[in-house]
Formats: sequence, structure tokens, C-alpha cells
Amino acid sequence: MLYINGEWKQAQSGKTVPVKNPATGEVIQHVAYGGELETRQAIASAKEAFDGWKGKTGKERGAFLERIAENMRRERDNIAEAVTREMGKPLAEATGEVQLAIEYVEWYAEEAKRVYGDVIPASHENKRLMVFREPVGVVAAITPWNFPVAMITRKLAPALAAGCSFVLKPALETPVSAVKVIECFHEAGLPRGVANLVIGPAQEIGAELTRNPDVRKITFTGSTEVGKKLIRQSADTVKKVSMELGGHAPFIVFADADLDEAVEGVMQTKFRNCGQTCISTNRIYVEDSVADDFGEKLARRVASLTIGDGMQEGTDVGPLINQSAVEKVQDHIEDAIQKKGKILCGGRPTTVEGLSGHFFEPTVIHNASDEMKIAREETFGPVAPIFTFHGIDDLAKKVNHPEYGLAAYFYTKNVDRAFQTVSKLEYGIIGVNDPRPVVVQAPFGGVKESGIGREGGTSGILEFLEEKFVSFRMT
Ligand code: NAP
Repeated sequence: MLYINGEWKQAQSGKTVPVKNPATGEVIQHVAYGGELETRQAIASAKEAFDGWKGKTGKERGAFLERIAENMRRERDNIAEAVTREMGKPLAEATGEVQLAIEYVEWYAEEAKRVYGDVIPASHENKRLMVFREPVGVVAAITPWNFPVAMITRKLAPALAAGCSFVLKPALETPVSAVKVIECFHEAGLPRGVANLVIGPAQEIGAELTRNPDVRKITFTGSTEVGKKLIRQSADTVKKVSMELGGHAPFIVFADADLDEAVEGVMQTKFRNCGQTCISTNRIYVEDSVADDFGEKLARRVASLTIGDGMQEGTDVGPLINQSAVEKVQDHIEDAIQKKGKILCGGRPTTVEGLSGHFFEPTVIHNASDEMKIAREETFGPVAPIFTFHGIDDLAKKVNHPEYGLAAYFYTKNVDRAFQTVSKLEYGIIGVNDPRPVVVQAPFGGVKESGIGREGGTSGILEFLEEKFVSFRMT
């Protein structure tokens, strides 16, 4: 269903689209498939609702967000099941994602009360200088399938807290969980038109969202390629944009690190969500003296993972999202083998008894080199390539990616080396001996072509505010 001006609707054309389970190949549900017309209606209703929502106090908006969080807590298991069924991640991971999504709502329920302005010391004694922070206007949010719930609330909780109304377009692979989240918004009693949901063809909806002058802000999470397109399309109406785009995270293991802990770090950063995460480890750099030892330990651990349907207890790794994802992973592995990469485990598409999903063996490749596709392109799959380095100067020459700069991880016990490494890394998020650096209270985002702007924490709400400067002259 689409959600426009406080009502659940079918598309005017009556069209629907099937949603498939990538583990079983089964159609889970059909959802309404709207287009430009419905998007225009949604924008108009968000515009109509904006002044009223902006006019509420931060405390009032925070209370709505608290009710949304309460509804999501009640629906946590249902939403998590929908995520697993439509995109494949194991249920425990999906539940973790929904929990994170709720925490974003809880955090911004509080932040709604803390949108401060500034008083600036004037250089004239008869002047008083003030900065007010006001909501930017109607927000268009476009979200991906790989974190279909957390990416919604990471954008829309701060948007609502700031005083913005919105139109959400979720990924076509994962509309069911988006509908469930927006049901929680609806049941919180938001005024009509503040929240809107459209599902349909990306290009058509994207064109309307970016070109319509009533939309003042585009917040996007997805590929760098689509992000660039949206920035270009938004230029004619000079919209504020924030972009959470692709990544190519290095995971660095210095010789003094606890190798077992580092292996566990790779397990979490590489194989969570079957490697389909923007902050997934893409390149593992191991100091040459411990590289063979590390490779053996990692391969042993990876070979023990259980592949299967995310709804089955005991599944560690679910399916890839679709067949073209399988082909891309296969292409990267074949290219690596041709360029002298050595497969330590995995390496092929695989089947799971009784299921017709897009499964792939978790893979470790040793002797990875810069000429390989895997060294530069986002694989978005369960493949861990091991590169080697000799000392921090050698590492510094290799570790920064020419285009991406989202997340990086490193393991060492030496404090001096830790600070030197932080200063060499050109990435927006760094985990030092920490494979899970993402928390609601901290800024999330990348440098270079990994994005513009930040989500989460205090920075996250600023993306939905404009500054209004007032110079007050006393006569
Ligand atoms: P995608 O193809 O860019 O799609 C993302 C969203 O954009 C989907 O809702 C998609 O709709 C929509 N879209 C596609 N083409 C569009 C167009 N021309 N106009 C408007 N909307 C359009 O990316 P994806 O494959 O879903 O997600 C994987 C990518 O997202 C990876 O590169 C990953 O690194 C990145 N990502 C980044 C972050 C971050 O925070 N930095 C987080 C998660 C993922 P349809 O589904 O209908 O095509």
C-alpha cells in the first residue's frame, strides 16, 4: 500500500508488484506500484502539512517520536521477520537492525527538544546578532534494501524532530518492511500529510522528487552511481542534499594485534548481511610477518559458517539479494584467481537443500593485489581478500581508496601506532580494535565519493535545518 495524506491507498492505475524472498524464490506479497502522479500527490500533502508540523514545539514533536518508538518496539519481531523474508539476512541480524532503527527514533525524540540557535557577539554596540535554526521544508528520502528499516529511521526520525514533513521511497526489493515502519508512524497519530510513502519505479519517482520545487531536501542512501544522478537532477532546483553512498573499507591487522580477535572482527565486518553492507570490509591488509597465520585462522573460521534461509535457526549467512549479485561476486573471484589470488576457502555459488535462493560460499582469497577488481570495486558479497603490507609507511601508500572513504578498521595494541594510523586514514568512520563502531549518538558518513553530510548524533539533525541569521539594530 501507498501512504498519502494520512491514508493507505492503492496506486491509481491499480498496478501492483510482487516481492520475492531471495532465500526461497517465493513471492511473499504484492504491493501497490505508484508513479509520478502519486509522488506529486504525496509531495503536495507533505507541503500542505509542513507549516503545522513546523509550528509544533520540539517537545510536542518529540512526544510523537516517542509514540513511534513505542509502536516499533511492540512490532519489533514482525518487522524483523519481514526484513528476513524480503532481503534474506538472518533473523537475529534483522532483529538487531530493527533495534538500531528504534534507537534512532528514541535518540531523536530527545534531540527534538534541543534544536538551539546562537547569539553572536556583535561588532557594533547597538546591534544584537542571532541565528535561528529552522526546518528546511519537505524532505524526500530514498532508501536501499540492505538495511531497509534502520536507513528509514536514521533519516526520518531527525527529519521529523527538526520539523520537516517527508515523502519516503524505499527500495523495490524491500517495501514490506517499509510499510510496517510507516504503520508505526501512522499509529502514532501524526497529523495528515506529515508522513508519506510511495512505492514504484525508481527513475520516475526519483525524477519527480528531485525536480519538484516543493521538495527542499533530498536524503539518499544507496550506490554512488545513483547518488551522483540525484545530485545532478536536484541542481536545477538547488536542493539541500545529503548522500550516504558506497564504500570500500580496509581492515588492517598489525603484527602486534591479537590475531584471534582480529579474525572475529573480520567475521563481523565482512560476513554480516552476507557482505552486503556499505561499511563491509572489502580489503584486509595484514602485516606480512603474520599474514599466513592470519589467513589460515580466518579460513578455518569462515569454513565453519552455516549458509541458509535466514528464518532457520543456526543460519549464519543468508542469500545474496539476486542473481546479478551472484554474478558480480563470481566475476570478482574469477578475476582474482586469474591474477594469482589463492582461494583458501569457498569460491563458488552454492545450493541449500529445499531452497532455490541466491546462495554463495563465504570465501577467503590470499595473495590479493591492487590489479584485481576486488581491490577497487565494491564486491557486495561474502568475499574476504587478504593483501599484505610491510610497516606503516607501506600501508599508508596502499590503504586509501581513490574514490571511496566511508569506513576503516584496524587492530593493534600500540597506542602510538594507533594515532599515526588514524591520521593516515582518509575515511569518515574508523573502528580501532572495534568491528561495530556504528551507534546512534555518533556521526555516520563518508568522505570523497562515499557521500555528503552525516546521519546520526547531533550532526544528523543539522542536515534538516537551515540557519536564519537576524541582525537586530537598536535605534
Ligand atoms: P541503489 O541501486 O543505488 O538503490 C538505492 C535506492 O535508490 C533504491 O530505493 C532504488 O530504488 C533507488 N534508485 C535507483 N535508481 C534511482 C533513480 N534513478 N532515481 C531515484 N532513485 C533510484 O543501491 P542499492 O543496490 O539498493 O544499495 C547498495 C548500495 O548502497 C551500495 O553501494 C552500498 O554501499 C550503499 N549503501 C550505503 C550506505 C551508507 O550509509 N553510506 C548504507 C547502505 C547502503 P529501486 O530499488 O526501486 O531500484
